[in-house]
Amino acid sequence: MTEILEKDLHHWLEHVRIYANNGKVADYIPALANQQPEINAVAYFPLEGDVIHAGQSEYSFTIQSISKVITLALALVQHGENAVFNRVGKEPSSDPFYSIAKLEVESPGKPFNPMINAGALAVTNMIRGRNSEEMVEEVLQLVRLLTNDEEVYYDEEVAKSEFETAFLNRSLAYFMKQNGIITGSVEELIDVYTKQCAISLNVKQLARIGAVFANDGRDPDTNNPLIPSHVARICKTFMVTCGMYNASGTFAIEVGIPAKSGVSGAIMSIIKGGGGLAVFGPSLDERGNSVVGMQFLQKLAQEKRWSIF
Ligand code: GLN
Repeated sequence: MTEILEKDLHHWLEHVRIYANNGKVADYIPALANQQPEINAVAYFPLEGDVIHAGQSEYSFTIQSISKVITLALALVQHGENAVFNRVGKEPSSDPFYSIAKLEVESPGKPFNPMINAGALAVTNMIRGRNSEEMVEEVLQLVRLLTNDEEVYYDEEVAKSEFETAFLNRSLAYFMKQNGIITGSVEELIDVYTKQCAISLNVKQLARIGAVFANDGRDPDTNNPLIPSHVARICKTFMVTCGMYNASGTFAIEVGIPAKSGVSGAIMSIIKGGGGLAVFGPSLDERGNSVVGMQFLQKLAQEKRWSIF
């Protein structure tokens, strides 16, 4: 495991920032359209030593699809593998994250995996709570544990903006309700889902979550178990096979580490035996992955030989 120094982070971030011009900030969630494409940041939380960072590392963004890893861990802890994988599959879909196509053509409407929106909605639907407020609280509690920060909350403006425009996610949810994959109120489910996606973190906090997964579910500072190791392993495996949506195969070849991206422009990644690395840059490629983040990970992973393959 080659050491990573703060100067490496500065060097590569400086080197790849220009790629922001090759992408576009997500605008289908109106509040995300305000993000500044030139903002970027990176942090590495090692299992040994202190967090290092470069760029605007205090800047908070919403984690969007990265929350799918956390809700998957939560549902697996609360209900076990059998119950969760009765509702959602374990296979890559090769479709965009928002796609409804396979819900109709495959029998009977079970989403392919928990990293696409349909699968994530099915997983969130399982989280314990008598109402959406309690379900959101369950997710927040876990994120607070993983970041070791009691102040973590969601961005109300982004949550509201997505809730008001999430017509496609409502369609996915209603489709799955028809097929018995989802139960209860779709509006409440969309409420929980848009709030989990709007959880607001900076790269240092996100890198700490990655470090918990790198540490097989244990707190990187105290070594206390936060997530069972078999649950952490399942989450990391999904990050490899499905974490970068329909770019996951290319990413596995070019970079070769577990990673999960979100349309805000954040990517959480895991360096085996090393720690958690989070990178942020809101300009996205056509598959919805941060262009600066992808370039950064590719350059650093090749230099440091991080690929697990
Ligand atoms: N909240 C977003 C959505 O459901 C998350 C998608 C993403 O980050 N890819 O559309």
